[in-house]
Amino acid sequence: MTALPDYDDRIENLAVFHLKLPVRSVRKHGVGDVANTVDVVYAALVTRDGVTGWGEASPWAVFTGTAEANAAALDRYLRPVVVGRRLRDLPRIMADCDRAIAGNSEAKAALESAVLDCLGKRSGLPAYMLLGGLAQERIALSVSLADPDLGADLDLLNRLTEDGIGIVKVKTGFADHAFDLERLEAFKKARPDLDLRIDYNQGLAPFGALAKLRDVETFKPTFIEQPVKADQWQAMASLTAALDTPVLADESVFTLADLVKAMENRIANGVSIKIMKCGGLRAGQAIANTASAHGWGVYSGDMFETGLAHRAGLHMVAATPAFTLGCEFYQSRYYLRHDPVVEPLALEAGHLCVPQAPGLGATVDFEIVERFSVTRAGDDLPA
Ligand SMILES: [Mg+2]
Repeated sequence: MTALPDYDDRIENLAVFHLKLPVRSVRKHGVGDVANTVDVVYAALVTRDGVTGWGEASPWAVFTGTAEANAAALDRYLRPVVVGRRLRDLPRIMADCDRAIAGNSEAKAALESAVLDCLGKRSGLPAYMLLGGLAQERIALSVSLADPDLGADLDLLNRLTEDGIGIVKVKTGFADHAFDLERLEAFKKARPDLDLRIDYNQGLAPFGALAKLRDVETFKPTFIEQPVKADQWQAMASLTAALDTPVLADESVFTLADLVKAMENRIANGVSIKIMKCGGLRAGQAIANTASAHGWGVYSGDMFETGLAHRAGLHMVAATPAFTLGCEFYQSRYYLRHDPVVEPLALEAGHLCVPQAPGLGATVDFEIVERFSVTRAGDDLPA
């Protein structure tokens, strides 16, 4: 047996940047709104032999957590776990992260992404190779429509059509039911061929929900995501039993343990997996494989992410055949005004192409990171 090359892959530095990135428009969702800026945290690991790897935490305060908490989790609680460790110890590092601090799944996803980026750059392999190999190299892209200005969303839909995109997820439940139907009608009229998906982001009260969802079903959506609150499992289960359209769990399922309970309680027919909810790419793979074995549909969702977290998610999906419902890594192209990643993700016929460069395949523009950083911690990065 050949031993691993004897290079010094110990992690020497962890730098943490909290960025506020401007967005193009207001967006509304059942669970809350977004305007002006989104908060993300960039983490950079530097090894003793000079490899720098990047990872991103993309929290949303009303959904998962906050950037301030993620930055503190990385700087104060996870720094002692990771500095001095060897990249190859990734599973043990991540287990120790779980012991060091509860929650903060976005910070853990950032750290794992950064380790995988370093490992890939060190070995010359794209991250999907470190996650099992290439199962799919082009992933269908879904873009979400969530602008309270219907005209603006129709303009975006035109742009999506020009770009060859055939899947949209309509955010519903942030205003009244009549407006939801008006928007669905308009989108379907503009693009009768659309693969239409619906996401309530918990926006419906269980009382009266079924009648509204029956109206929505007439638009033949591929699925209806998270119609009621995350913890209203009984309502999720009864809607799933009553509707013809598959129901997806998003806010109700963060972890593998959540998924197992969700399957036992039959609260949905599928799940939206996000590395920011489950704490990393390997955890996302476990959820996808378990859901798929149970016959559930598996979709790759995301948060308000930059091209860095999009790439982490793409490598996870690329290595995992269980993801069959596409992905929504669209914010860097359609929603953020500036992406700290230099290369835009390649888009071909409505599908994102999996990056083939070593690691995550992202060149981080440090000038943009510095320009939009509101806090930073850790040693300076090598020039
Ligand atoms: Mg959702």
